[in-house]
Amino acid sequence: MIYLDNAATTRPCRESVEAVMQGLEQFGNPSSLHGLGLRAEQLREKAREQVAHALGALPEEIFFTSCATESSNTAIFGVSKSVGKRKKRIITTSVEHPSVAVCINTLEEQGFEVIRLRPDENGEISADDIISAVDDNTCLVSCMLVNNETGTVFPVGAAFKAIKKNFPQTITHCDCVQGFLKRSVRVKDLSADIISLSAHKIHGPKGIGAIFIRKGVHIPAFILGGGQEKGFRSGTESVPLIMGFGAACEKYSGAIAERYAKMSELKKYFCELCQKADGVFVNSREDASPYIVSISVKGLKSEPLLHFLEQREIYVSSGSACSKGKKSTVISEFHVPSELADSVLRISFSGENTREDIDALMAAISEAQNTLAKLRK
Ligand code: PLP
Repeated sequence: MIYLDNAATTRPCRESVEAVMQGLEQFGNPSSLHGLGLRAEQLREKAREQVAHALGALPEEIFFTSCATESSNTAIFGVSKSVGKRKKRIITTSVEHPSVAVCINTLEEQGFEVIRLRPDENGEISADDIISAVDDNTCLVSCMLVNNETGTVFPVGAAFKAIKKNFPQTITHCDCVQGFLKRSVRVKDLSADIISLSAHKIHGPKGIGAIFIRKGVHIPAFILGGGQEKGFRSGTESVPLIMGFGAACEKYSGAIAERYAKMSELKKYFCELCQKADGVFVNSREDASPYIVSISVKGLKSEPLLHFLEQREIYVSSGSACSKGKKSTVISEFHVPSELADSVLRISFSGENTREDIDALMAAISEAQNTLAKLRK
């Protein structure tokens, strides 16, 4: 099995699985006053420290959620109810993940003015573009760090730093799901007030995410009830999943640069093979995250190709997993020509991948070009 769909989800690492199992056995409710509850609380707090450490944050700035989608919903609707009462302008990009984009669309329907910055002909959005869109009436700037379909990296740190200096009341939010632990993501470098994270993209379990909220920034709770997570996110915490998240953070917060270098090598090797192959085009920028490479195989539609590869036990994605079956608008925002937009495959790596995986993928693509193209004639 060759798994090249790591931007959709990653295989949980052994440490994370063991931590989840330990959490299941230590089954106490962290809100219980007896010893079993206390033990669960201690395990939850250890995991909070692990996540905070991986982000360069304080433990009290980390709140556990069910996923990054919940974190971004909490951030965006929360800001709309706090600063958004007085300031009605939101700045974002036209290539955000639906977990951000759909929330902002909803606020637009409710009367917020939304500015969606679009990548230029090189697929870039500059820090200046983001900074100059912000004015005194802006409540929120939400910009992802790494795009999930092309791996494009946006200059979030530079933009947010200037925005916080000029407009300290404007809240800056960053969806760091595809960047966290794949490149150095530190709260001090990012100048983000709020950050969304997900465990299952970093070899942790599904169903657990986190929201970082900078100390001193206040947004209302999104899920109300028993007052867990200091009243910010009610509902009995999933201590096993939280522990699995913590263990993955601990494992992958080291050697980020080494893994990045390995991925860059792999991406370079892959892109060189694509260049040599007939009809295979790389859509991602050279300076994009090496973990995600978007390609198009001219003349072959993404979905049949994906299934052809699957029959050879090679797993990739067409666009992003969240745009299942639908043509991705994000790909056209990145100026992929329309004749290639139906033929996009997203290849996404993890530290487990090798050159042999890429050789097998290229051989299978070539086979598909011969077989599928003939079938269509
Ligand atoms: N943001 C980005 C950039 C993503 O790639 C994803 C998942 O694909 C999400 C948010 C949503 O993450 P979760 O599955 O934890 O809700």
